[in-house]
Amino acid sequence: MTTKNPHEICIWESKKNCSDCGLKGKLHCHLNIKYSIIFGIPFFIAFIPAFVGLILLGFPLNLISILSWIGYIVFFFLVWEPQILCSHCPYYAEGKSKTLHCSINYGFLKTSKFKPGPMSKFENVQFLIGANIIFLIPVVFLIIGQLWIYLGITLFGIVLWYIFIQLYVCKDCVNFSCILNRVPKKERDEFLKKNPKMYKAWKESGYQFEDE
Ligand code: SF4
Ligand code: SF4
Repeated sequence: MTTKNPHEICIWESKKNCSDCGLKGKLHCHLNIKYSIIFGIPFFIAFIPAFVGLILLGFPLNLISILSWIGYIVFFFLVWEPQILCSHCPYYAEGKSKTLHCSINYGFLKTSKFKPGPMSKFENVQFLIGANIIFLIPVVFLIIGQLWIYLGITLFGIVLWYIFIQLYVCKDCVNFSCILNRVPKKERDEFLKKNPKMYKAWKESGYQFEDE
């Protein structure tokens, strides 16, 4: 055990150890800008028209809507999401680092402790609700303001974002217990077996490995 990698997670070991790993290139187990781009572009296709639309609502509705939206986003990404989602992700297990170094939330303050076991059903329900509120807030205000074009582009961006992350991000993501995760069970089991602390915690939670 090292202070750099107290949970002995392979993604925080030297990349030299990856040379004979069958999962190499299949998972998002190292920082990769490809995932940031695929995750970020459709998100901003929804975010930018929504933000412009909210500005056009006129005072004071624009101020109320933007402050409540941004306030909620900060709360979700720094308080709620870390507790229920990211704390179960191997990226959260990085030694003494106070910030995250994954391709999706790079640089975000770590406000929870790593939990090697899988997310519970309740945490997954909270994640689905919490993530969708991010989109729901501007959608409600755009409907109130009858800004239909902005609403349409925002909804288009949201659908695009879900399709893109499902196709290109969630199928490689190492946070396997997230409800959106699409990594095949064989790869999931292989990764967990490489990481004894996660393996033990998942087994204790009742997770069934394919060949056991
Ligand atoms: S799963 Fe672990 S050992 Fe395999 S390539 Fe990824 S970081 Fe390296
Ligand atoms: S769940 Fe996603 S956003 Fe959270 S730490 Fe893991 S890779 Fe980053």
